[in-house]
Amino acid sequence: MRQNAATPNAWETALAQFDQVAKLMSLSVDISQVLRNFDRALTVSVPIRMDDGSLKVFTGFRVQHNAARGPYKGGIRYHPELTFDDLKALAMEMTWKCSLAGVPFGGAKGGIVCNPKTLSKGELERLTRRYTYAIMPIIGIEKDIPAPDVNTNEQIMAWMMDTYSINNGYCTPGIVTGKPINVGGSLGRTDATGLGIAHTIANATRYKKMNPKNLKVVIQGYGNVGSAVGKFLSEMGCRIVAVSSSKGGIYNPKGLDHHALLKHYQESGSFDRFPRAEGITNESLLELPCDVLVPAAMSNQITKENADRIRAKLIVEGANGPTTIEADRRLNERKIPVIPDILANAGGVIVSYFEWVQDVQCYFWCEHEVNEKLKNILDRTYEAVHAFAQEKKLSMRTAAMSIAIKRIADAISVRGLYP
Ligand code: NAD
Repeated sequence: MRQNAATPNAWETALAQFDQVAKLMSLSVDISQVLRNFDRALTVSVPIRMDDGSLKVFTGFRVQHNAARGPYKGGIRYHPELTFDDLKALAMEMTWKCSLAGVPFGGAKGGIVCNPKTLSKGELERLTRRYTYAIMPIIGIEKDIPAPDVNTNEQIMAWMMDTYSINNGYCTPGIVTGKPINVGGSLGRTDATGLGIAHTIANATRYKKMNPKNLKVVIQGYGNVGSAVGKFLSEMGCRIVAVSSSKGGIYNPKGLDHHALLKHYQESGSFDRFPRAEGITNESLLELPCDVLVPAAMSNQITKENADRIRAKLIVEGANGPTTIEADRRLNERKIPVIPDILANAGGVIVSYFEWVQDVQCYFWCEHEVNEKLKNILDRTYEAVHAFAQEKKLSMRTAAMSIAIKRIADAISVRGLYP
């Protein structure tokens, strides 16, 4: 996001986080140098014809951070305040996330500086297709596989897949993940991130001897990720006590009904006037007393300003980068555990990997199989991070990053330096 004085620069934050962990694990200077840089980045002009006949040129990017362990993988974000630095940071984070989950991909991220809410469907389609054409030289089934991110969805993935396929001369479903089912998407992909976060909460509370059935949960951002978390946690018997959108939130300590929340939001476009709930700002929502706080909206929400006022017993990061470095340090001192984004929200990229495998094999799995395989990876990964954190007396974030970076460092070392 474009910076004001209060917003930390995403790339500087990502580098500082990496440096901390690299120092702690005594990573060699050579490997550190490689990982502090991204492999490749492309900036593209995206001219399109607007509905009123005028021509407008947008700017798009694709950043590829590291492919030591496999092809690049990462989402496409459409946002008016998107910056190159955001994408560099998000691409780096994708490298860690894929490595930690053990999926054979490296990290990438792309996007267009635009406000999709002001574009017609036709303009959005032309923008997507021209952007896809512009980044074609560096993407490919075995090179770089995009996916949806903030403000992009399965329709946009279908346009990307079609544009790539037409230019390539044959149908290439595996070029993107997060596609509609009828053009090679995977069952279970839509809810995978939310389901993964719910599994992670179940794992974390089991280790903390909290009863997952009686949890009071606060969710900031009730969009794709947040609402799926709400759905699965409600099914597990948890009480969702507060939720929000960018327009503000609502709170009822006795619990909010997930289906009624969705219906109310779909009908009115906000949570205002939701029955038997008190209106609340996004800032105060983060400070409510609860068992689990799930920030599932934007980055930099828990900061040094509010870290001391957080009253959750456990924070599980649904969004990417919702906790600043200073806040993370402070929460650690206050012994409030934070389950980091690269562990908690990895469900999306894990099922994206399953989608790619199914596309490449042209052989599709049932939803049960997808969800079972997802759960196995998440359980295994959580256990590994927890054990390493306990053994080395590290936070879950530092443990997760150390495991991820070690695997990439090993891959870089064994591959050697060309020429
Ligand atoms: P989304 O656009 O569907 O939902 C975002 C929600 O946050 C919406 O309810 C929106 O109103 C709210 N919001 C926006 N700005 C806010 C603000 N300043 N304060 C409070 N609420 C605000 O997006 P999403 O796909 O649910 O993604 C949410 C986060 O999760 C992002 O950080 C994204 O990078 C991350 N993430 C998403 C996936 C995925 O599969 N969609 C996977 C991994 C990580």
